[in-house]
Amino acid sequence: MPPAHEDVALHTFLRGDPATQLAWLTERGLPPATLLALHNACAQRCFFCAGPGTVSVPDRERTPRAAGLAQLAARPEGVTRLMIGGNEPTLHPDFPELLRAVRPAGFATVELMTNGADLAANAAEWAALGVVEVIVPLYGVAPASHDGVAGVPSFDHVVAGLDAAAAAGIRVSVHTLLLRRTLNELAALNDLVRARWRTRLGVALLRDKGSFAFAAEAPPFAAAVAALTAIREAARPLGIGTPPCLPTHPEPPPLVADLYFRSQALAFGPGCDGCTARERCAGVVVAYAGEVVALGGAGRTR
Ligand code: SF4
Repeated sequence: MPPAHEDVALHTFLRGDPATQLAWLTERGLPPATLLALHNACAQRCFFCAGPGTVSVPDRERTPRAAGLAQLAARPEGVTRLMIGGNEPTLHPDFPELLRAVRPAGFATVELMTNGADLAANAAEWAALGVVEVIVPLYGVAPASHDGVAGVPSFDHVVAGLDAAAAAGIRVSVHTLLLRRTLNELAALNDLVRARWRTRLGVALLRDKGSFAFAAEAPPFAAAVAALTAIREAARPLGIGTPPCLPTHPEPPPLVADLYFRSQALAFGPGCDGCTARERCAGVVVAYAGEVVALGGAGRTR
């Protein structure tokens, strides 16, 4: 069973073989693809993620090379789209070999979810091997704010990596978390992403994993709404796993980012009563369920 803060159905997808993953996506009207999820140690120390399962992964718990190759070899007929994710897949010792195996296995394109720290040195090579999109988090507009979240100096590497990816012809997708400590930079980050990489920022809500001081890090829902509302509507970030009562742009997020953030358990709260968006809403991350306010309906007011 997954941890309580994770969604059981999404867990089935993440742990599934390619045929299971394809069926899971098809059932939900999502495009055909499969995911290669690599479990290994990450070099960053993001406060919401760093723990025994991500910082120091013993060799015996790392995704074996054979399992990665088997996942590629099991590509369902007709599926040419591969997503790669995990803790930090680019640091898996077998990542280069696995990436070289992608095209021979029959995949045409790779969408890579990475922290971006190693993009600058590798973007051109990865593009040649099939990477068409990188999905990268950026937590602020300066080293102090980004690195404060990431736990290690990485802002300059990530920005250089995104530049290199764009120069190599890779589509760049940038997302951030709505955090109490960086909410005042949201508009500037949105402007940076739009101006520098000609793309739309994605935003997600923090989930409470019980491993950090959630109340100290998560802004009130109303503050997140206000920060997004302050950005003109046409320029707003797109929401990743967020409910319609958070004012974001309706464009869908990158599929692998959407799936990653769908892994958080969602719920409805008392404020959802009478919400006009409820039929198209999957809920909000559990920790925020008590704060949402119905859209256009008779829900409670705060
Ligand atoms: S149903 Fe609840 S979580 Fe969904 S949009 Fe409405 S108020 Fe927000």
